[in-house]
Amino acid sequence: MNYKSTRDNNEVVTASQAILKGLAKDGGLYVPESMPKLSVSFDELAKMNYREVAYTVMKEFLTDFTEEELKYCIDSAYDSKFDTPEIAPIKKADGAYFLELFHGKTIAFKDMALSILPYLLTTSAKKNNVKNEIVILTATSGDTGKAALAGFADVKGTKIIVFYPKDGVSPVQEKQMVTQKGDNTYVVGITGNFDDAQTGVKNMFNDADLAKLMDDNGYQFSSANSINIGRLVPQIVYYVYAYSRLVKDGVVAAGDKINVDVPTGNFGNILASYYAKAMGLPIDRFICASNENKVLFDFFKTGTYDRNRDFILTSSPSMDILISSNLERLIYKIAGNDSDKNVELMKSLSEKGVYEITDDMKAQLDEFYGGFTTEEGTAEIISKIYKEDNYIIDTHTAVAAHVYNQYVADTNDTKPTVIASTASPYKFARSVMTAIDPAYDSKTDFELIDELNKLSNVAIPQAIEDIRSAPILHDTVVDSKDMCAQVKKILNI
Ligand SMILES: *Cc1c(COP(=O)(O)O)cnc(C)c1O
Repeated sequence: MNYKSTRDNNEVVTASQAILKGLAKDGGLYVPESMPKLSVSFDELAKMNYREVAYTVMKEFLTDFTEEELKYCIDSAYDSKFDTPEIAPIKKADGAYFLELFHGKTIAFKDMALSILPYLLTTSAKKNNVKNEIVILTATSGDTGKAALAGFADVKGTKIIVFYPKDGVSPVQEKQMVTQKGDNTYVVGITGNFDDAQTGVKNMFNDADLAKLMDDNGYQFSSANSINIGRLVPQIVYYVYAYSRLVKDGVVAAGDKINVDVPTGNFGNILASYYAKAMGLPIDRFICASNENKVLFDFFKTGTYDRNRDFILTSSPSMDILISSNLERLIYKIAGNDSDKNVELMKSLSEKGVYEITDDMKAQLDEFYGGFTTEEGTAEIISKIYKEDNYIIDTHTAVAAHVYNQYVADTNDTKPTVIASTASPYKFARSVMTAIDPAYDSKTDFELIDELNKLSNVAIPQAIEDIRSAPILHDTVVDSKDMCAQVKKILNI
C-alpha cells in the first residue's frame, strides 16, 4: 500500500516515508492509493482488546512495517499511560453512546494518536536509514502541544519544540505545557496569536537554507500535526473498536448500521471515521458538529467553503478553526481522486478564502449531516445531561451532543449513535461547572476541579493532579518574528 499526494498523483511514497515527511513537497496531504478492507469479522473483533483491534486495522495501512515493528509501536503506546485497560470506554447517556477518548496522559483525544506517533516516527526513521536526529516543530492552540510533548518526551533520537501564543491558551493548558519534563522538550511562548505561531512554523518547514543548515548539523524537521497519516491511521482504530464493543454488548448485531457524531475542528477525527466506513464498518451517517465557527455547517449545506468571516472565541477552543486542513482529503476523494481539481480548489481557498464544489461532488456528501451549536446550546446540554443522567461532558463533546439532539429531532433517525467524546470535563472545568450553575464562577480553577469531582464522582485525573504542584520548567517568550532564531539557539546551530 502506497500513499500519494492530494496535489500530485505522481508523488507516491511508502507509509513510513509519508509519516516521516508529514506533508508532501507540493503542499498536498498523503492519502492511501486504495482503501483496504477489514480482514476479520465483527464477531472476531468483538473478542479482541484495544491493542489487537489496533493491529488488525493499522497493519492494512502501514504495510511496510513488519508485524514485530507495528506490535512494538502499539504495545508501547496503549499501555498503563491510559487510566483504563479499555483505553476508550463507552458510556451511555442521553440516548447515545459516548466514546471516551480522553483517558490518556493529557486527557484529550489527541493522546489517542500522539501516544503512538513517536514510535511510528522513530521506526520509520530507522526503516529509511535516517541518521539525523528528528526535530518535531509544532504550533499549538493548546491541546496538540501538550499531547505531542507528552508523547515525545525522552524519546531517543528526537527533540520537540512547541510554540504557543502566550496569551491565547487557557491557564490549565499553559500550565500543562510549561511544566513538561524531559531533556528533549522545549516550550516557547510567542507574543502573537495562533496564526502567527502557525505561520512561523510553516515558514521554517519551507526554508531550504534552514533545512541545509539542519542537515549539516545532523538534524531534520518533522511534524506532529494532524495532517500526518501517522496521526490519522491510529484514529481509525477507535471507531472499529467502538463498533466491536457495541456488538459485544449486544447493542447491535454484527453488520447493523450505526451513526457517528464528531465535534469537529480540523476534520481529522471525523475523516478517520469516514476511512473506517471505507474499510467496511457499517456507518450510515457522519454527523459533523461545529461550534459558532460554523464553516463546515455552511459547507455541507451549500457546497461553498468560505473562511471569510470573523474568528469567534468559544468555550470549545480546540474547534475554533476556520481552515479545516483534513477536509482536503475528502475534497480530493469526491473529486474522483483528481489532484488537478483539488489543486484548483485549494488555490482558490488560499488566494480568495473561498471555493465551491461541483454538483456532482456535492451529491457524494449525502452521508454527512452538518450541524452547529451556539454557546448557550453548549451550556444547556451540559446541564441537561448532568441533571438527567448524572454524566458530565466537556464543552467540545457538548457541541456534538447538542447537534445529536437536533439531528434526531430533524430526521427521527434513532439508530445507535456513537458520539466522540474528545476531552475530559476536568480540562475545561470553569465552562463546564458554570454551565451547571453560574454561581460557580466565583471560585478558583482548582476549587472548581474539586467541585467537579464531588458532582461527577469521577476521580481527578493524574494530568490535573500533576499541575497543581509541578514546577515551571519553561519560561521563554519571544516575538513571533524571532521564532527561527530561537530554534537555532535551541539546536545550537
Ligand atoms: C482537536 C480537538 C477537536 C477537533 O478535532 P479535529 O480532528 O481537529 O476535527 C475536538 N475536541 C477536542 C477536545 C480537541 O482537542
